[in-house]
Amino acid sequence: MTIVLRGGRIVTASQDYVGDVLIEGERIAAVGSFPEVDAEVIDATGRLVLPGGVDPHTHLDAPLKGTMTADDFESGTIAAAIGGTTSIIDFPVQQKGEDPRVSHEAWASRAEEKAVVDWGLHQVIVDLPDEYFPALDYLIANGSPSFKMFMAYPGARMVDDATIFKAMRRTADNGGFVLMHCENGPVIDLLEREALGAGRTGPEENAVTRPPITEAEATSRAIALAELARVPVYVVHLAAAQALEAVAAARKRGLPVYAETCPHYLLLTEDVLMEPDFGGAKYVMCPPLRTRSHQERLWMGLRTNDLQVVSTDHTPFRFAGQKELGRDNFAKIPNGVPGIEWRTTLLYHFGVRKGRIDLNRFVDLISTTPAKLFGCYPRKGDIAPGSDADLMVFDPEKDVFLTAASQATRSDYNPYEGWEVRGAVETVLLRGTVIVRDGAFVGRRGVGTFLRRSTSSALT
Ligand SMILES: [Zn+2]
Repeated sequence: MTIVLRGGRIVTASQDYVGDVLIEGERIAAVGSFPEVDAEVIDATGRLVLPGGVDPHTHLDAPLKGTMTADDFESGTIAAAIGGTTSIIDFPVQQKGEDPRVSHEAWASRAEEKAVVDWGLHQVIVDLPDEYFPALDYLIANGSPSFKMFMAYPGARMVDDATIFKAMRRTADNGGFVLMHCENGPVIDLLEREALGAGRTGPEENAVTRPPITEAEATSRAIALAELARVPVYVVHLAAAQALEAVAAARKRGLPVYAETCPHYLLLTEDVLMEPDFGGAKYVMCPPLRTRSHQERLWMGLRTNDLQVVSTDHTPFRFAGQKELGRDNFAKIPNGVPGIEWRTTLLYHFGVRKGRIDLNRFVDLISTTPAKLFGCYPRKGDIAPGSDADLMVFDPEKDVFLTAASQATRSDYNPYEGWEVRGAVETVLLRGTVIVRDGAFVGRRGVGTFLRRSTSSALT
């Protein structure tokens, strides 16, 4: 099967030119000009041709606070595909007292059966007696070289500093890469209990009880532990300006510290937590939304490369029956928002169109750098001969109206409801097969394959 994407403006993290992309089978065969080739032609004139998105932070088919995310690996990856994302990395969660490979395999079997885009896994570590070290080595050797730990949620997913340090030290030897959820769990736990004790039970307490310094303190501590262990570290879903200052200061000292933020932190503020009739619950997440000044600092971080990735932390719940579990207690609201479907469009509209980042940087943030950091570049994240033919054709002039009424995610609300933005994903190819045409999903359940990743060469 030969396909030519014809006449588009091809944009990668480092290049920008008009040309054709020649696809043979699952791979890109060549880029250039191929007027004579006998092939199926997809006209990309007047459009951008971009590498498929790589979203290294999603939660599909995942249990949380007694419920399950609204999207499974099928609906969630359909939403990803429609949003131009052709690779995701999700998070299996270890149960205490259980070999981490058990949860890893459970997640993998669900993804294997259902995913419509390629998928990888970062194993979450909640319990690490020395007997589990070989399991981590095994996962690294078998294509999942990154791990996540939580400094939040005491009594549930939180691990103590010694465990974090122990896991990090092991990665110095086995080539693993540690991702950290940075919030001071014990202090937040106290603030939550005090709020509830004083009768403050509403969604707005999500921000009140998780102030920016609790995020900044944990970020600094994670960086210190990584420095002590002499390993790289990646801070997930960074939201607070003070946390970014900690990352920037570490990078300035030459430490291999990386961080991502998410569209919701760039675009929404904590004011939405006040939405009437418990509507604020739709925006409850950890860390919480912050104020306008934090947003400006995050945008600056994207420009200065103190933030290297925009992921979505796609954690979809329905308002009805799920977010409502916390009607009388904000701490019981399942935390998270959907986002995977709109990452490309939102970052294009508010980043590129508003002049905050340029096109190459845009591609870098949503595709190339995540592919590099997480060990799947140049197979993913580039438009070059030999790379997987994961591509999106993006219409920069098409208007998009965001609404729950027409979204693919099974969340019953859209955090950006009613927003009008410009720039739409038109066509998406996964390894040479068209899976989105004219913005509609045309792919098949289960065709996504395991993203076997190598230990990252981008890390120093
Ligand atoms: Zn997450």
